[in-house]
Amino acid sequence: MVFIDVADILAGGVSGGVSVRGWINNSRSSGGIMFMLLRDGSGLLQCTVRREAVGEELYGKLEGLHLESALELSGTVREDGRAPGGRELSVEGVGAVYPAKLDYPIVRKEHGVEFLADNRHLYVRDPRLQNIFHIRAKFLEAARDWFREHGYTETQSPSFMTASVEGGSTLFNVEYFEREGVYLTQSWQLYAEAMISSLGKIYTIAPSFRAEPHRTRRHLSEFWHLELEEPWTDLAGIMDTGDALVTHIAHTLANDVPEKVRKAGRDPAELLKLETPFPRISYDEAVEIVQGEGVEMFWGDDFGWQQEGPLTRKFDSPFWVVGFPSGIKPFYHMPDPDRAEVTMSGDLMAPEGYGEIIGGGQRVHDYDQLHQRVLDDGLDPENYSWYLDLRRWGTVPHSGFGLGVERVIMWMLGLEHIRDTIPFPRDMRRVFP
Ligand code: ATP
Ligand code: MG
Repeated sequence: MVFIDVADILAGGVSGGVSVRGWINNSRSSGGIMFMLLRDGSGLLQCTVRREAVGEELYGKLEGLHLESALELSGTVREDGRAPGGRELSVEGVGAVYPAKLDYPIVRKEHGVEFLADNRHLYVRDPRLQNIFHIRAKFLEAARDWFREHGYTETQSPSFMTASVEGGSTLFNVEYFEREGVYLTQSWQLYAEAMISSLGKIYTIAPSFRAEPHRTRRHLSEFWHLELEEPWTDLAGIMDTGDALVTHIAHTLANDVPEKVRKAGRDPAELLKLETPFPRISYDEAVEIVQGEGVEMFWGDDFGWQQEGPLTRKFDSPFWVVGFPSGIKPFYHMPDPDRAEVTMSGDLMAPEGYGEIIGGGQRVHDYDQLHQRVLDDGLDPENYSWYLDLRRWGTVPHSGFGLGVERVIMWMLGLEHIRDTIPFPRDMRRVFP
């Protein structure tokens, strides 16, 4: 038997007799007719079973199956305006059946967040989540396409490391054989700066780890970090790259999977409206906007959600905040040559209250300057010896950024919480299942 994907049936490319297989997402029957919503990896198909067509015995057997039993069905595809997706399968035969052992715990009523988190291993089957995970896959595909078209090489960095990239407060300590002071990586950046002299323009898509001490709607303790690094590029150059990449991903989602985007909660037309370049404002201007909204903030403070919320609700497209004070950026950020108290840094903010989605900027490439910055930050140069070494041989101006995959998906789909952008979200309270 050749099995057809539900998505291909719904796309209209299939007619006549077919076989499908999947899980029973929902089922109801009355008066000798049963509507079974069958879910396979690609989507949901209404399958209609008539007692008179399949016989009393088989009908009774199907009727008795618990939700999330799996089975093979064959029949004829028909157009039907009442069916979700506009097509249904009129069932004529049943192949293998893999019955569920018990009633399925997730029923069609509102469950609490904790219950769904405890049952995440089952909840990942939910059609709403399935839809978001399909979009997530498309998102990563679109990013990789863009990188390939623009001459970037994908490469990897280790997850175990001995130095902090984003400050010590969110480091995860690891027991690493006999060695003390080993952590899970917060960013690939330091290794990326080594790799640009090997491969040129590079990127990675990999998990980063942050021991985020607060429960928020936009922090995970393990998130997927899309990071890139470029030699011979300054802050303006890296922001151009960010504009083009984010716009390409948004347009690809809107053009290639508009129905999925709409189902997730965003009108694809809004993604198509994005245009490069995104506005760029200075940190100083951003502080003034926040203060103008009546929210407390002093020059030199970092943005928390109390500030990013009102700031980003003033915009309807992403925008860059440029030139953060040195005091709130790690040591590797290049000081502005015209204004030593700020750095050549840029964060991309998503509008509508979503806040930061990219953090990046130009790196210090001069040895003495970097050495001094390490000391000024109270760090031990020993821990950064190899990183400092990079400034001894062929050091050139270079820049890069990190984009939070889940953050961007959350904004692009208009979701309320970061947790549903990733199959098994990790936060300070949740490492099981
Ligand atoms: P925030 O201030 O929001 O915590 P950050 O300044 O710590 O962000 P960076 O260190 O610049 O973030 O990391 C680059 C990007 O990675 C961020 O712009 C964001 O999109 C993403 N990111 C950072 N921390 C997290 C996290 N805990 N969970 C999900 N995404 C994150
Ligand atoms: Mg942070």
